Amino acid sequence: MSNPARGKQKLFPVVNTNLKKTLLLPFAILCLHPSICAGQTDYLQSCWNKQLGNLGNKYLNITYKEGLDELYHSPESWQVLHYNATGKFWCNAKSFLKVDSLISRKRILSSSVEFDNEKLLFRDYGSTTLSPVTKSIFSNQVFESARYTPQNLINYCMKHQTPADEKSNKTFAVYTVTINNSIVRLFIRKADCLVEKITALSHDALLGDVLSTFTYAGYGKAGGVAYPATIIIAKFGGRVRDTIRIANAILTDSLPKLLDGPAGYVMQESVEKQLDLHTLHYNQNIHFIDLVPSGSRVMVIEFRDFLMVSESPLSSEIGEKILSEIRKNISTKPVRYFAFSHHHPDYIGGMRPYIYQGATILCVPEDDEYVGFLYNSPHSLKPDSLQLAPKPLKKLAVKDSVSITDGNYSMNVYHIGMQSCHTKDYCVFYFPEEKLLVEGDLIWIATDGDLKKASASQSGLYHAIKDRNLNVETLIQTWGASSGQYKMTIRFTELEKTALIN
Ligand SMILES: [Zn+2]
Repeated sequence: MSNPARGKQKLFPVVNTNLKKTLLLPFAILCLHPSICAGQTDYLQSCWNKQLGNLGNKYLNITYKEGLDELYHSPESWQVLHYNATGKFWCNAKSFLKVDSLISRKRILSSSVEFDNEKLLFRDYGSTTLSPVTKSIFSNQVFESARYTPQNLINYCMKHQTPADEKSNKTFAVYTVTINNSIVRLFIRKADCLVEKITALSHDALLGDVLSTFTYAGYGKAGGVAYPATIIIAKFGGRVRDTIRIANAILTDSLPKLLDGPAGYVMQESVEKQLDLHTLHYNQNIHFIDLVPSGSRVMVIEFRDFLMVSESPLSSEIGEKILSEIRKNISTKPVRYFAFSHHHPDYIGGMRPYIYQGATILCVPEDDEYVGFLYNSPHSLKPDSLQLAPKPLKKLAVKDSVSITDGNYSMNVYHIGMQSCHTKDYCVFYFPEEKLLVEGDLIWIATDGDLKKASASQSGLYHAIKDRNLNVETLIQTWGASSGQYKMTIRFTELEKTALIN
């Protein structure tokens, strides 16, 4: 929900605009049939004329309804939360402003955006302050705003004199630009010189290459300016869809004042967060690596001649860093198994480097399709080891439990599923010799103060342990390491007390 979505853009130099218009005007008057409205090949100019040109110094003011689906930390992969929003936006070649509101958990939340060629101001849903804006967030607005209007990208292509490319065919003139490593394509229908769709291929740390397609339908006109009445947004390659329906469109002479920018407005440079890795040796077989400041914790289990790793957060890049840390501070034995407590990004996001290393992935039935998706997902925009040199996916099916052993030292993985009250695929890791159970994010016992009644997930874990007759004395959690607010090492007696409080 934090994407400003919404930008505006800047126009190509006025002198060029006027020149192009002057050259095209006589021909445009002669061509009454839409299929030849663009003359020889300048579909982009004709599109600009139709969707922007007649605005002049006015603004297209649109009222709309939006159906929005967002991925979240859901019990199963690809589940979404649905929101209904209503809003208004104002746009022309120089500006894009938007104000909208949606209902979330019975609360009405609003957001506002002001975008032009010099600045982006954005107040997120439910926030009272402006969100920080980096230069890359600012430049991404050219295509992020495509969910409301294709105007920004049309204008960007005009400004950069983007030529139609080899993707063009009998039906579409296609213009391709690269913005911040995203490949963005504008498809203009040759028949009527209106935008049919925009596609944006971007890198996602967890999912690799992700394609968003914005399709425009049912064009209407306001004051001679063509605008699409319906916009369908297919996100994540079409797995998640949003719809925007335009209720009303008029031209106005002025813009509202939605947000006050700070004095001395400056956009931040994009800075990658540094990640520090700290290795802790629990005993000679069990090691943990804490990631600061993300708060994630990786477990490395050392057997006689191999390793098992569980949890690898967020991205292939971080997975590689963890592997280096393992090699440096734990062991150079091969990683034979990779496991994860559940499918959320903090646990599975860095799985691919382990597949590349030849590890077998422990996989419950609920994750079969998702693990396959992450394995097959192209990473062409930011290649990882698996993209550069594909390796086969090896899986070990885990139904209820599995034991990993070297003949001497053993541990067990238990699939507790919705007993976790968190996800259907939930697994916990049990070490009989140590009477230790390691879990992801189910226990929330404050470091200070009295014990409180267990949350649903905490109580669920307690019952999962009792149901399986596991002899547990100590529990270790793998998420929340850096907050300091909650215990990461918990005595079973403490968990039991919280579960028995009424
Ligand atoms: Zn989780």
